[in-house]
Amino acid sequence: MIRSFYPQGFRCLSCAAIINEALETGLPGVTSDLKPWPHSGCFSVCSRCGHVQKLLDQDWNDDISKIYGQYEMYSVSGGEEQRIFDNGLPLPRSMKLVENLRQTWMLPSEGKILDFGCGNGAFLRSFSRLFSEWKLNGFDLDSRFADALSHIEKFYELYGGSLAQIEEFFDLITMVYVIEHLTNPRTILEQLRCLLKAEGALLVQTSSFDDNPFDLMVVDHCSHFSEHTLSSLVVKAGFSVARVTQGWIAKEIGLIAVPVIDGDRSFRSSDFVQNQSAGLEGSLKWLEKVVLHAKSVGMRQDLGIFGTAIAGTWLANALGDKFSFFLDEDPSRIGRTHLGRPIRHPTEVKSNSSAYLAFPWKMAKTMHERLAAAYPTVNFLLPPANEP
Ligand SMILES: [Zn+2]
Repeated sequence: MIRSFYPQGFRCLSCAAIINEALETGLPGVTSDLKPWPHSGCFSVCSRCGHVQKLLDQDWNDDISKIYGQYEMYSVSGGEEQRIFDNGLPLPRSMKLVENLRQTWMLPSEGKILDFGCGNGAFLRSFSRLFSEWKLNGFDLDSRFADALSHIEKFYELYGGSLAQIEEFFDLITMVYVIEHLTNPRTILEQLRCLLKAEGALLVQTSSFDDNPFDLMVVDHCSHFSEHTLSSLVVKAGFSVARVTQGWIAKEIGLIAVPVIDGDRSFRSSDFVQNQSAGLEGSLKWLEKVVLHAKSVGMRQDLGIFGTAIAGTWLANALGDKFSFFLDEDPSRIGRTHLGRPIRHPTEVKSNSSAYLAFPWKMAKTMHERLAAAYPTVNFLLPPANEP
């Protein structure tokens, strides 16, 4: 059930307007490192700029300290970055992103990059494969990957603490799957703008809430972006958006921006804000339907979940004991377990097994055609359609 209430003392993460209404659901959550979580949090749509966000209340703050206190990167794939399927071939996600960046944006053959929120260096490693003459730098509040980073060729400096202490200027600053986690995204963007050379560029890659309702269920994602609200935030922080696209990686938004001094355009028409509210409520209702549908199947038969990333993990959390295994095509995951259930390849399950496609509806539909032809012995189940 979705219930609305009137919180006090909260401001929009994008435009700082007062938040005057929020939504609460009974839906469980999932963490971005793929752990089930008891609740997904409260949501709100800013009535001024239309930004969809979590309400960062005390419960959320308590959750977030626990989540980050035990955070593990890529544990489902044994430490390897998530792969995406490009023409049938599994490719690290960051490699696909760098390839798209190269095709979209003219970068010099030499330069200095700062990867904000660099983690274990997955993006920098992929970047240096195509831009081998660039000097690599990272920023991360967590220094536990310092040693691994120092072994990457051309890695110069790992920064931590405050951005204000950095005295270098960069040709490219990247934020890959980071901006959605920030509790102060506008301030961070403004600080990063000051570290860019005048002709430098910013690359932001993040989840798309428009395309992927499951993103709402990620507890540690504070912001749930559309192309529109991501562009608007970046403009407010003093950039001009050069390119924004959902075509690079499915269910995600990629954005390239350059630093400028520009007017604040944080106001949006009430139509836009209403659309955003309808989008949020529609997504939450659809997620409730997915849980009910999958549960009803799982009560009648042995059910598997196709996919072990965010959506699959979240659905598993919501289903509890109403499913028995995961299905995946990623070779780095097959044969492992996730949440105590085996991860199997579609050819390894009993004939006539059912597998739930934990994906946004349109994507599930496309996948269904391919999977049903490739693995005819598995009964792949589509989530309910989310079109009115
Ligand atoms: Zn706002």
